[in-house]
Amino acid sequence: MYLHLDMDYFFAQLEEKRRPMSAGKIIVVCVYSGRTPDSGVVSTVNYPGRALGIHSGMPIAFAKKRAPPADTIFIPVDHEHYARMSAQIDSVVRGMCAKAVQASIDEWNVEDNEAAKKAPRLKDGIRAEFGLSCSVGVAPSLLGAKMAASKSKPDGLLVLDADAERAMIGGSDVEKVPGIGPKTSGALRAMGAQNVRDIAKLGAVRLVEAFGRKTGAWLHDLGNGRYDSGLGEEKEQGEVSRIGTLKEKTRDPYMLLSRLEELESEGKERLLHMKKSYRTLSLIFVTEDLRTHAKSMSFRNPRGWNEDIRAEKEALVREFLAGNALEVRRIGIRFANFLDLGGQTTLF
Ligand SMILES: [Mg+2]
Repeated sequence: MYLHLDMDYFFAQLEEKRRPMSAGKIIVVCVYSGRTPDSGVVSTVNYPGRALGIHSGMPIAFAKKRAPPADTIFIPVDHEHYARMSAQIDSVVRGMCAKAVQASIDEWNVEDNEAAKKAPRLKDGIRAEFGLSCSVGVAPSLLGAKMAASKSKPDGLLVLDADAERAMIGGSDVEKVPGIGPKTSGALRAMGAQNVRDIAKLGAVRLVEAFGRKTGAWLHDLGNGRYDSGLGEEKEQGEVSRIGTLKEKTRDPYMLLSRLEELESEGKERLLHMKKSYRTLSLIFVTEDLRTHAKSMSFRNPRGWNEDIRAEKEALVREFLAGNALEVRRIGIRFANFLDLGGQTTLF
């Protein structure tokens, strides 16, 4: 079974989260171009904003016309924060599911025989850990899982068996299918296919003629209820991090370091898999007041996945403890500032 997890209105939800005062307000996360104070486009908007017709890609000036100023907060994108949160969610997903691939900053694909059982646990875990909602779809194919997740938005969970999956995809309008762009869907409609089942009636020959061998064959399979298998491509990651809860709150450097040991080897396994070396090492400390702190160091020469960093970790732990009086609840490690290992294998 496949599982697709998609965070709900991710950037805007994260901004809501760190501004408790914003409850009930319209949040518009914007990419400002800087030409004039209002030039740029909307990146993400929360549901109250969507209800007013504000959507991503819309010019900020248009969004301002639709949004009542007293109830709306316009916020510039903060990619660093979103990427950091994404990396933390990634550790939760990978902690629960062995075969997981991050498909974008806020989406994961999972292959797991127990996907249906794990789906509610994943949702609960992410809610408990970060206070964030997501939508999850589970189906025999990844395509089915993706469509189930988007159908259940927001905060949804939809589990489909093979029959339900075929009914959903087959009955879906062609433009709703991930992988069918506006050009293809326009052409399909012009050929008389409104929904996916109609595509089968067009026949393989016509489909290959119109769309080429690869897309034509894919559409033919799709129309006939044969869906892709596989997990899809991994998104290029800017950092790898692993965070874990401690057995109990502590300030004991040895307890902190021993929990880090495990997280470090998980993270390094990932680096090895990605064939990356790193130049920045950070330790993350979540204190009992639930604040997150990071201590980082950068290396002039990139570090390989198998290099010993005991001394560096210990120095960062001590530096943190010296500057903060609270007990630590969770601890994490982050590798960033990557370099491809290709051609540099002699380093390791
Ligand atoms: Mg999303």
